Amino acid sequence: MTDKYDVIVIGGGPGGYVAAIRCAQLGLKTACVEEWINKQDKPALGGTCLNVGCIPSKALLESSERFEEMGHQNIDHGITTTGFSMNVPKMIARKDKIVQQLTGGIEQLFKANGITWLQGRGQLLADKQVAVTARDGAVTQHAAENIIFAVGSLPVELPIAPWLDERIVHSTGALDWESVPPRLGIIGAGVIGLEMGSVWRRLGSEVVVLEAMDSFLSAADDDVGKASRMQFRKQGLDIRLGSMVSAVEVTEEGLTLSYTDKKGEQSLTVDRLIVAVGRRANTADIADPAVGLALDERGRIAVDEHCATHVPGVYAIGDCVRGPMLAHKSSEEGVMVAERLVGQQPHIDYNTIPWVIYTDPEIAWVGQTEAELKTAGIAYRSGSFSFAANGRAKAMDRANGLIKVLADASTDRILGVHIVGPMASELIGQAVIAMECEASSEDLARMCFAHPSLSESMHEAMLSVDGRALHGINKKRK
Ligand code: FAD
Ligand code: NAD
Repeated sequence: MTDKYDVIVIGGGPGGYVAAIRCAQLGLKTACVEEWINKQDKPALGGTCLNVGCIPSKALLESSERFEEMGHQNIDHGITTTGFSMNVPKMIARKDKIVQQLTGGIEQLFKANGITWLQGRGQLLADKQVAVTARDGAVTQHAAENIIFAVGSLPVELPIAPWLDERIVHSTGALDWESVPPRLGIIGAGVIGLEMGSVWRRLGSEVVVLEAMDSFLSAADDDVGKASRMQFRKQGLDIRLGSMVSAVEVTEEGLTLSYTDKKGEQSLTVDRLIVAVGRRANTADIADPAVGLALDERGRIAVDEHCATHVPGVYAIGDCVRGPMLAHKSSEEGVMVAERLVGQQPHIDYNTIPWVIYTDPEIAWVGQTEAELKTAGIAYRSGSFSFAANGRAKAMDRANGLIKVLADASTDRILGVHIVGPMASELIGQAVIAMECEASSEDLARMCFAHPSLSESMHEAMLSVDGRALHGINKKRK
């Protein structure tokens, strides 16, 4: 007999597991199909984010940052450390433990909320039937009133650099290396390239990042891109823009990359290579053709602003649909779809979804960039404040970077906030709250922030929009 649910979620990453939890909270009989098999050869929930994405990468960023601090950043504090070393397998084991704890936590949440975990690969059939193929090949069939696809994304493989054991890898491989490659090449100076490049550089690799575009971090505001690039250069992260890789050859010396840049043909030999040129929606074979599920031009499931597909009762969220590939965006969409299923009317403002890159300095932004405002013909005023004039940042030895604010020229409503600097990942939350509450820069300028704190830089950047930063040089206002 086929069991019947109110909702079957296909995919148990931050989109799917959150959707399932919210559905269950709202009283819907819910199942989640998830096929992930983890490093320990066990089924696991949590998707890319918990198993091989956000969480493990942040664990390694933390370990490697501490190692680097021990090495030289502590010297000015009067701390001398001798005889320390990095035990890479131990660092990886710590990361694995965090992953196991968190993915195990999702399993507990499923139990507590009465969610059925259907282990295996799901495929949607006609009439909202879901076939689940278990690891041993056994197929079961389940039915639901509503289906939510949350099948995530996969790394893009370059034909010139197919995956090769632990030598040519995507991010997952680079999260598991048990030794430090002396020479590391990375194709793509995007989020993964910068985060993973930072980890291995701090641990001792000589890192060269080859980026096809002439511009750096094109999604970020120009000032943030420039300021962060300067810091990466100082750290020794060799980012070569405008570099098109044409071939990767396995040689006796290692991996030899041929690429062209403005100066012509170049070559680079490395020991290992990370290919980080983006991710693509994981939509192959997720639905029987009889369902009529439409994909867009980039292979993502086509959805409307509320994540509904063309097929009644079928929704899709997260990395497998349009919009940024971010865990918190996936989760928000999961909550929205669950609540709409019971007749609530939530809505997501995609303009207030924050971005964070967890390098040192951290990079974070929300809302529009200056270039986007110019293109859209929106009149704006800008303000900025440098962490160099912030007492707390100085005390932390983290006085690099800035906060930049863009506000509407006539209403003063905050349109974008861009940060490069210490704890940008936390500070950006203030900007999200302000923008969600439709605050003006004057609203935040009139608030009192604790002294000394990094938040004072947010306050000063807001004051600077009106030319009245107290600890900075203000632009002359006409
Ligand atoms: P996923 O997390 O990919 O989950 C999809 C799940 O569906 C998987 O578990 C998969 O096994 C399952 N699945 C797929 N097809 C089927 C099927 N047919 N049947 C059953 N199960 C199926 N984002 C951030 O916001 N912050 C970060 O710091 C961050 N760091 C990252 C670092 C790295 C190295 C990577 C790779 C990504 C990072 N991301 C980060 C991106 C983030 O991981 C994704 O945006 C997020 O995981 C997307 O969530 P999702 O639920 O849509 O998909
Ligand atoms: P990305 O889109 O961030 O960056 C890919 C980079 O590769 C781009 O700069 C692109 O111009 C470049 N590129 C593309 N093809 C190339 C080629 N042939 N040669 C050289 N360069 C090339 O993608 P990513 O870094 O792979 O990350 C994938 C996604 O994962 C991100 O978009 C992001 O959504 C998510 N992610 C988020 C975080 C975070 O939020 N902190 C961390 C890691 C990953």
